[in-house]
Amino acid sequence: MNARRRKSLAARLFDQHPIHRGIEAGAFARLEAARRLCLNSQERKRKSATVQRMLREGRELLSWLQPPLSERERSEVVLSTIMKVISRETLVPEQKTEILRLATKRPRGRPADSKYLAVCALETKLARPEATWEQITVQVCKCTKPRHDTCCTENLERQAGRLKALLRRTEILPLILATTKSVALKRNLRDMLG
Ligand SMILES: [Zn+2]
Repeated sequence: MNARRRKSLAARLFDQHPIHRGIEAGAFARLEAARRLCLNSQERKRKSATVQRMLREGRELLSWLQPPLSERERSEVVLSTIMKVISRETLVPEQKTEILRLATKRPRGRPADSKYLAVCALETKLARPEATWEQITVQVCKCTKPRHDTCCTENLERQAGRLKALLRRTEILPLILATTKSVALKRNLRDMLG
């Protein structure tokens, strides 16, 4: 296969967004199962643990699908929240200052959008299994450093590993395979998650 055709196949596979679709289908199936169990009050009591688990797993799956906000969108969200809080008259000026100070501090730990980036990273890896994690980082990482470094690559790879474990645990693979026509994609999916 020449480079041009390989590129177009990779682009086609990526466009199917199989992981995204699979997570969506898995979350929907769980929320729907929980809803059905709740329709009948006897069932709901008897299977309360199952309902709780379905809801928890559904929420967990959906948390991987929130697209990252741009810096501007993020600032707007932060600003409007702060305005709401400090416009309350019950606060003394010292409290308002404290809220402003805390709210504008950079959040510590893993950024919330790294989960969504892991979905993009796994889909890129599925479409181009030969790509290295460094190459995938260049494509996917949204950090503002002048150059992506080993920190970026390690974070992305670690988060992708967590996502793979989740997909195995929640048995999403059969859901993706059921709606996938491409033989290459099926093979890559089995290699990655099977
Ligand atoms: Zn980076």
